[in-house]
Amino acid sequence: MAAASFSPSPTAPAARLIDSHGRVIHDLRVSITDRCNYKCVYCRTGEAGAQYPELGIGEYLRLIAVFVGLGIEKVRLTGGEPLLRRGLVELIEELSGMRTVGGKRLELAVTTNGHLLDGLAGRLKSAGLNRVTVSMDAVDEPTFERITRVPGSFKAVLRGIRAAREAGLTPLKINCVLLRGFNDDQVEGFAEFARREDVVVRFIEFMPLEEGRLWTPEIVVPLKEIVERIGRTLPLTELRPREASETARRYTFADGVGEIGIIAPVSQAFCGACSRVRLTSDGKIRTCLFSQVEHDLYGRLRAGASDAELGEYVVRTIAGKEARHHIGEPGFLKPSRSMVHIGG
Ligand code: SAM
Repeated sequence: MAAASFSPSPTAPAARLIDSHGRVIHDLRVSITDRCNYKCVYCRTGEAGAQYPELGIGEYLRLIAVFVGLGIEKVRLTGGEPLLRRGLVELIEELSGMRTVGGKRLELAVTTNGHLLDGLAGRLKSAGLNRVTVSMDAVDEPTFERITRVPGSFKAVLRGIRAAREAGLTPLKINCVLLRGFNDDQVEGFAEFARREDVVVRFIEFMPLEEGRLWTPEIVVPLKEIVERIGRTLPLTELRPREASETARRYTFADGVGEIGIIAPVSQAFCGACSRVRLTSDGKIRTCLFSQVEHDLYGRLRAGASDAELGEYVVRTIAGKEARHHIGEPGFLKPSRSMVHIGG
């Protein structure tokens, strides 16, 4: 695959992706499979498997190039579990050859459960990956394996985290979804883990995006409570945001060693600064995690649309991006795809 064949088109219909609420979209998340080797209890029922097709690597590249030609600067590959996807290293190699509208390299990241990272971190870095985010929902082995439902997963992920750090895939972020009564006893342990392992731990509020029906407002552990709890043993200082669209509120410890972040889409939604759009493994655009409709970009590619026509469709679709999500409001409807099938 020659990188040149996927160069973003200079004749793209618009230089920037701006929605009707004035938000500039520069962050694309692409799911490259909805298969996953974990069955995390808060995400999956344990009965359903993959539900949607995967595109060829060349097809993802063509679609991503269309977005990049319109102003996308960051591409995050996700899933399902993206490290399961054959061709991942080659995909990253090709993406690292692409340039933004401004002529810069793309910022390339992967979100992974880390299970296969030990064997892949070095190759991913050499292919041009900048960063990985590893999901980890407990720092003690029995709790972790009760959540993932995979024996040996805790040690595999720890090896993966350390391999990623050694490979230079830094700053290394660890994402932890907290659920009351499941793993909220891990908060203080994670604060110490962040310092010990030299990683940024980010706690994420649980959103109604699971396969089953687990979500209630009460199960969400809100930002305020996390800050208060950690602060009792390790006082925290809030850090200034680096950019307006930053989703995490960042904190350092009083002695300046280590960092944690809290992503609070439920208790302190950040929709007004959203800069994201998603492409599912089967090539549908989702303008919000909670969209009720999807937009079939791949269908147009299959029907023979040119890059310019695909670009026009992307611009039109993004113009209609939802103002915000409605979690917790009367009449809220869960989207038909759950997180593992959308791509987190
Ligand atoms: N398999 C990869 C991983 O584990 O990171 C990528 C896909 S996974 C669906 C992406 C992220 O979404 C993980 O950090 C996971 O914990 C998070 N997630 C899953 N369900 C969620 C939910 N209902 N609310 C918030 N985050 C969720």
